[in-house]
This record gives sequence, structure tokens and C-alpha cells, in this order.
Amino acid sequence: EETVLRARDIHVEYDGERPTRAVRGVSFELRRGEVLGIAGESGCGKSTLAYAITRMLKAPARMTGGSIAFHDRDGAETDLLALDDESLRTFRWSRLSMVFQSAMNALNPVTSIGRQFGDIFRAHRPEMEPDEREKRTRALLEMVGIDADRVRSYPHELSGGMRQRVVIAMALALEPDIVIMDEPTTALDVVVQREILDEVERLREELGFSVIFITHDLGLLLEISDRLAVMYAGEVVEYAPAEELAAGAAHPYTQGLLRSFPDLTGVRRELRGIPGSPPDLRENLVGCAFADRCEHAFEPCRSTTPRLLELGREGGPWSAACHLNDPAHRPPAPATDPAP
Ligand code: SF4
Ligand code: MG
Repeated sequence: EETVLRARDIHVEYDGERPTRAVRGVSFELRRGEVLGIAGESGCGKSTLAYAITRMLKAPARMTGGSIAFHDRDGAETDLLALDDESLRTFRWSRLSMVFQSAMNALNPVTSIGRQFGDIFRAHRPEMEPDEREKRTRALLEMVGIDADRVRSYPHELSGGMRQRVVIAMALALEPDIVIMDEPTTALDVVVQREILDEVERLREELGFSVIFITHDLGLLLEISDRLAVMYAGEVVEYAPAEELAAGAAHPYTQGLLRSFPDLTGVRRELRGIPGSPPDLRENLVGCAFADRCEHAFEPCRSTTPRLLELGREGGPWSAACHLNDPAHRPPAPATDPAP
């Protein structure tokens, strides 16, 4: 399949007396039209990663390594790290846009919805006539299930769910190739969240954009993603097709996450969080970052850092960073009874 974004070995640090290594060597590929879910507990670096790939990091955070390449439909490649501020602004709306959890609060309170869409078009489509701008705004509002006459409304006249839909419509205004959504519906109630996600899914099928969807809600991600990257302590520890992952994760951390939320089918399961907490990312970590919490830790885990290895499983690419999956380190299988 066609790749639209390729991130390689991304590193982000928060400067301080002892820098915090928030993202430690993350690589991924986003395919055209897919939903890539990024899962992990809060503090695992998933939002920081999103800010890094959109080049929105602010001090004290800074990218200390890596490359990000965007591929457009005719195969031309853009190095995101080489863009100047002006090109980056254009790129952000027309190629890649973002919806953040608090985005609905970022709408300008003293400006009508129509005017705020107008500002986007004036900045990026200066050739557009005013009546064309209004027509397009009305169409975008309807597209996300909002009455077109809301073009005259002010943000405070809309519910939280409607404001978040407005933000999604804005993100789609210039028909970007990629939309990054970081906890886009977490602040909303479950029913509204469901409506909005269904809407996004419909729009994605219609318009063909790719989505990077970030949330701590693994159940939600399994449902809406094509593929999933599971992050722990600033690294991707498992990278897998979503459907297959639900049936059997390779990494003990993912297995723990899967056990800690209720079954999608409604079957009641014991809710079991993963005991312990992630390591201090100011420390120089040696070995597996999950070792302190892992019930399978064995000899190489505290001395050798596991690398992401392709597992060759069905539905792949599917990779995991765990010595259990590495033939070089695999512990001897427990003795079993000889076959009868
Ligand atoms: Fe557990 Fe070792 Fe695998 Fe880390 S590498 S997840 S400690 S078994
Ligand atoms: Mg976050």
C-alpha cells in the first residue's frame, strides 16, 4: 500500500537539569486512507509524538533526532523538518491537520463560526470569492452534521459536541491527506463521542484521508483503527493489525492493557490494571523499560534493550519489542510431557 507519512527514529526531550526523554526512537509508516491508532497510558509520549510530527513542539520540548517524510499522491516527497515557517503553515492545513482534545475551546469566542472558516480560506485559498467561502463553509458544517445556518452562530451558542464537530470540519476544510486526532472526543459524553466517531469514519471513507488517532482508550482504538502502535515509556513496544491484536498481543504490556478494559463484546472480565508505574524517563534506561512490571521478565530483560522485531504473524506487519519474541533470547520452553 501507498505510504503517506514516514517517521523514522523520532526522539524528543524535555530540557531540564536532567532531560526527560519523552519519545525514544519511534518509527512508523502511515498508509493512505488508514486509521493508525496510537495507544498507551498517559505520559507514554503519544501526544508528544503527535506534536513532534506536526512540528508543534514548544520549549522545553524539542526534537533531538529523527526524520519525517510526507509523500503526496504523485509520489513527491516533502521533508517536514526542512520546511520554513511559512511552508509549514500551509502544509499544516492543506496536507496535515490536527484535532486536539481541547480544540473546541480554542475557537475564538468573539468571532462567528463562518468568520473562523473564512479566515482559513482567506489565508490558504486567497483566490476564493466570499460567496464561495460561505458556500463551502455551509457544506462543511452539514458534512459534520451541523445545520448550515450555524455559520452565523458564535461558539458559546453551540454545545461542546457541536463545537468539537466544528473543529473537525475546520480540520477537513482544505481536504488534507492526514488528520491527527489526539483524544478528540474524550471531553464529550459517550453518546456524542460515538456520533462523532461514526461521522469521522464516514468522512474518511468518502474523502480518503488518513487518520492518526491517539487515545488512552484501547477499546475504542481496537474498534476504529486498522493498525495500532502501542507506546510505553516513549517507545513503540508493539505494532500490529488492530483486529488480530485484540485476539492475541505479543508484548506483555499490550497483554496487560487488553486485560485492563472490559471486553468489547460485553462479556464481563476481571478489570485488572497493570501493577507498578512506568520508569523515570530522566534516567538512562538499560534493558527493557517494562521489566519492573513484567511478570515474564527473565535473564536478558534488565541488561539488554529489546528491539522491535517483525514477528511474521498473519495480518502483519506485526512487530514487538520483547525478548520473549526474540529467538536469540527466548527462554527455554517449560518441560512438557512427551507426546503419547
Ligand atoms: Fe517482559 Fe522481558 Fe519482554 Fe520486557 S523484554 S516485556 S521484561 S519479557
Ligand atoms: Mg496526551
